[in-house]
Amino acid sequence: MIRNPATGQVLAEVPCGDLPQVEAAVARARAAQPAWAALPFRERGAALRRLARGLRDDPRLLDTLVSESGKTAFEAEGMEVFYTLELTRYFTGRAGRRALRDDLRHPMVFSNKRARVIHHARGVVGVIGPWNWPLLNNYADCVAALTCGNAVILKPSEHTPLTSLRVAELWKELGLPEGVFQVVPGRAEAGKALVERADMIFFTGSQAVGRSIAARAGERLVPVVLELGGKSPMLVLADADLPRAAHAAVWSSFLNSGQACVRNERVLVEEPVAERFLALAAEEIAKLRQGPPLLPALSGDGTMDVGAITFSPQIARAQAQIADAVAKGARVVAGGEARGGAGQFFAPTLLADVTPDMAVMREETFGPVMPVMRVANAEEGLRIANDTPLGLAGSVWSRDEARARALARRLEAGSVCVNDTMLNYFVVEAPLGGVKASGLGFRHGPEGLRQFCRVETVIEDHPLFKWISPLVSREISFPYTGRTQRLLRWIMKRFY
Ligand code: NAD
Repeated sequence: MIRNPATGQVLAEVPCGDLPQVEAAVARARAAQPAWAALPFRERGAALRRLARGLRDDPRLLDTLVSESGKTAFEAEGMEVFYTLELTRYFTGRAGRRALRDDLRHPMVFSNKRARVIHHARGVVGVIGPWNWPLLNNYADCVAALTCGNAVILKPSEHTPLTSLRVAELWKELGLPEGVFQVVPGRAEAGKALVERADMIFFTGSQAVGRSIAARAGERLVPVVLELGGKSPMLVLADADLPRAAHAAVWSSFLNSGQACVRNERVLVEEPVAERFLALAAEEIAKLRQGPPLLPALSGDGTMDVGAITFSPQIARAQAQIADAVAKGARVVAGGEARGGAGQFFAPTLLADVTPDMAVMREETFGPVMPVMRVANAEEGLRIANDTPLGLAGSVWSRDEARARALARRLEAGSVCVNDTMLNYFVVEAPLGGVKASGLGFRHGPEGLRQFCRVETVIEDHPLFKWISPLVSREISFPYTGRTQRLLRWIMKRFY
């Protein structure tokens, strides 16, 4: 049963897929994939761009996205739909074509030859998505795999499957090839069945599930990309533009009600400016409008800043972390509790005087809580920032850009902003992924595309020097001669 978390209204009942459904979907995908991979790059690209425009122009999709997640219309359209268009533009455009075309390399040793590096589709890719971004971390994560010529089976979160199901309907309505993109809704069982059968898995979700998927993929020897949780730090130096930093900290903490992987989960502020930073952040929080987003979402009238908590257990998680922090000496400057009513809302919460031993500084919150800790200097801030098993994102704030850049390089994270926050997610030209226990592999960039390919290297004659090939082949193979060995010895001494 899927409910609107902002109102409690029942939206739909979705039957859960299981093993037979996954098996049937994989069989359809295997049958459809070769023809999809055989299409010229530009035709696959044109199909995916048609779908992206279809998503953009479909009011039902946007309302579904807002209703099942409880997020604001701006976050649904301005982030999820916009991101899907931007990512499709990048992967299906010139950059994608360049990344996937045969790559010719010229060896030094056998200069009569050349190596042709070919990027083949892997076959059937399983994409398993979370509930916090029902489009951006679900269908949008299928675009790279589809661009490469794979068939994709998407298993969305059991808590927010409706957006993905609407995308699958649009795929059909637009007459795109059957079996190439399919959605199988379901719980963990459907995800497990997909992990057993797909040729590659792209997973976004929790660390625990990510580890279990990686273990099984390891046994099957199929590649896996893991996009897991974060505890991203924001390091604010004393010379930072404080109003700007406070504004960004509040946006990054309460965007999507704090249910965003790359959001700032810890704010570390240099002692001399900590009190002023807290006052500015409290002022920003007081201005936030929180409540059920208005529908239809396309009206886009910007009435709400902070929406609902999509997944209700996140409320108890936030409460437990706040209680732990307060018991250990933290101060609640704003918010601190769930709001009453039919919807699942938690007041944007600002915590001051937090210390590294508190759960809110060690475990992912994934809810609207912003802990602020004072640090003596940048070095202490950096040490605390890196004192986590996670390494997804982060930001450094200072008017001295060279110093901020130097600190950014020392942050153990997959993506960092200097004097900004979270923008990496929209810079689709550059790889985005976690380090340490935040994940393996990438989204975005040529790296994010090529990982969906099986690479084959074919060695062939260089057209200009092929006359010499029979001679070289004879010299290096049977019968071995002392003359060739002496020549090789001379080469080894001369060139290495
Ligand atoms: P989750 O791990 O509980 O579930 C994710 C998906 O995996 C769901 O579709 C679920 O049904 C499926 N699943 C559960 N058990 C499975 C199993 N054993 N085998 C296969 N599939 C299984 O995560 P969630 O609660 O939906 O998402 C929240 C988490 O996702 C947070 O930790 C957040 O940080 C992370 N996340 C990371 C990114 C990123 O890009 N790094 C983006 C968004 C969310």
